[in-house]
Amino acid sequence: MNLSARQRRALEAICDTFAPSGNGWPSASETGVPDAIARGLEFTGRAAVRAQFLQLLDFWDSRFHSLFTTGRFAHFSSLTPEAREWVLLSWADSGIQRRRGAFQALRKAIGLLYVMLPGAEGGRSRVWDRLGYPGPLGAQRPNARRPLRAIVPDTDLDLSCDVCVIGSGAGGATAAAVLAKAGCDVIVLEAGSYFDDADFDGDAFRGFERLYTERGNAATADQSVNLLAGECLGGGTVVNYCTSFRTPDDVRAEWAAAGVPWFTQDEYTRSLDAVCARLSVNLEHNRVSAREQVLQRGLQSLGWHCAAMPRNVVGCEQGKICGYCGFGCAIGAKQSAAKTWLADAQDAGARFYVETRAERVRVQADAAVGVEARTRSGQRVTVRCQAVVAACGAIHTPALLLRSGLRNEHIGFHLHLHPVSNVSGIFAEEIRPWEGTMQAVYSDQLRFLSGNYGVKLETTALQPAIEAAVLPWRDAQHYRSLLEKLPRTVGIGALVRDREGGRVTVDQEGQPISHYSLAPFDRKHLRHGFIGAARILEAAGAELIYSPHAKWCAYEPGRRGSLGSFIQDMDSAGWDAAQLALFSFHIMGTARMGGSPKTSATNPEGQTWEVGNLYVMDGSGFPNASGVNPMISIEAIAHHQASRLATRLRR
Ligand SMILES: Cc1cc2nc3c(=O)[nH]c(=O)nc-3n(C[C@H](O)[C@H](O)[C@H](O)COP(=O)(O)OP(=O)(O)OC[C@H]3O[C@@H](n4cnc5c(N)ncnc54)[C@H](O)[C@@H]3O)c2cc1C
Repeated sequence: MNLSARQRRALEAICDTFAPSGNGWPSASETGVPDAIARGLEFTGRAAVRAQFLQLLDFWDSRFHSLFTTGRFAHFSSLTPEAREWVLLSWADSGIQRRRGAFQALRKAIGLLYVMLPGAEGGRSRVWDRLGYPGPLGAQRPNARRPLRAIVPDTDLDLSCDVCVIGSGAGGATAAAVLAKAGCDVIVLEAGSYFDDADFDGDAFRGFERLYTERGNAATADQSVNLLAGECLGGGTVVNYCTSFRTPDDVRAEWAAAGVPWFTQDEYTRSLDAVCARLSVNLEHNRVSAREQVLQRGLQSLGWHCAAMPRNVVGCEQGKICGYCGFGCAIGAKQSAAKTWLADAQDAGARFYVETRAERVRVQADAAVGVEARTRSGQRVTVRCQAVVAACGAIHTPALLLRSGLRNEHIGFHLHLHPVSNVSGIFAEEIRPWEGTMQAVYSDQLRFLSGNYGVKLETTALQPAIEAAVLPWRDAQHYRSLLEKLPRTVGIGALVRDREGGRVTVDQEGQPISHYSLAPFDRKHLRHGFIGAARILEAAGAELIYSPHAKWCAYEPGRRGSLGSFIQDMDSAGWDAAQLALFSFHIMGTARMGGSPKTSATNPEGQTWEVGNLYVMDGSGFPNASGVNPMISIEAIAHHQASRLATRLRR
């Protein structure tokens, strides 16, 4: 995107205040961060977000901005480095939530790009040298064939089939396989592109660009929660961390009571079994990395619950390559939807159209009769069919339904996110937290804090981008001193089963906007989770422990501060929107199923109450948050509902 001279000056000044050059570090501008931000703006789904950002840049270098923040009538770009840092902090700590949100968005974008961008001509980044980070390992199977036939339409197409599945992630791929194997003619439309083992080189920047929605930059409207979701053939299952929990019995009972009786019946158990078998879920790939030895050691010394993680992998390396799994498994060990359900669907005759985004479902006489889509290069694709399965993930499915004219009040409501963030610990010894099995162990010690609401404790491989996403910024030097300690850092994630939820609406262009704020009930659990994570890190011997708050909240066990002072600092730093970095990897509930149109968007079969033959089979359909990583539940639900749909269509 072309920036005006004034906007560019502002952007460069902001970036270089976050990360100036010095002590062997390149500046953000030298590493190409401002250019990458300007380019990335083109891929932001919503025009309004782009316009807001440009307005912010226009304002930023105006003399009035400095006058308001520093009392000096001067351009931001002409201020001293200290004064510029002061201006940034005034946004970080502002009492106005929108200002804090803007700061958080800038902090994340600049921090992520600073540690992700390669050096000149795609070479090694000087930042990686400072971090002691090896950088991407390169493709491990560069000559592996791409087994799926993914069609990129290069002309307008008029297609027909029995069932059109929109979205090829956990839900859509499972539904496509079940339906195709039952003899239905299936077409899958997928907005993202097709990448496979040969393309997965562990490069974070390329990984986000190719495989993630909005290149990893999607967030709630107030920027308080980053929303990570896959956008490629196979959806989230290509980038996810292989954690494979079945739907817990307590959650099954709750969902059955919400009007979906089959959740507690044998047929759902059979679908869970079928999914776990197809995905080869096992406990034989649980080598505990140095990073997770910290979690294990801390849990053991506290006498807390610790168990091996079920994982959907075959031949997983569990070493250096493994930590890069969030950018696609380079050795094909992850049993993603592309390796399993889409392969099955293809064998049974299903056709896949990629880079093809469904715009609306065609409805006649209250029944779905087809889909209108458009490719990335502007071709129109029209599909006529007997049934449509919406499986675009829980942000895009409600948007599709709303664009298609559905008005049930539950469409878009009940947005559950499992909000999560890391409490980080720095250790004396080298850990290399970007390496090792993604998630080999976990703890349910805090899962039942209020009934069956609480927190799951897990770790994640700390690629520099993942660390930068939560790293507090108080000034450039402090920020770098933390970055430099990355090889000795472990983050423990507290993942909250949220009870209250938010909402997805659409803007004038039909693009989704996610609204979410952490309710007091859920906030209490997050706080509990952070305290638990700090206790684990302290018990494991961390030298410094810090939270992901915008204000600096930290202590050095036995030397400076204590768990008590840490808790006080976190409470005074606040738990409101944009006062801390939050993420969601699990997006659910926005077209929930249930027993009545008064309480839900679809019936227990997944069929929308308003439009016949229009089904929802993805994370949107959850009656509420699953409380565990959701992939297996999404696939089992799709397996169950698609089997019923196939029977209906055969009749
Ligand atoms: C980094 C990461 C790690 C995770 N780790 C785990 C884990 O270890 N275990 C676990 O259980 N869960 C994990 N998850 C979550 C899990 O992957 C998701 O919950 C799951 O993939 C969601 O399934 P879905 O079918 O709802 O949507 P998705 O898998 O997101 O699939 C939706 C698909 O629809 C496509 N689409 C969207 N709109 C349109 C449109 N209009 N037209 C056509 N196509 C469209 C998207 O491109 C996408 O491919 C992780 C997620 C992420 C992002």
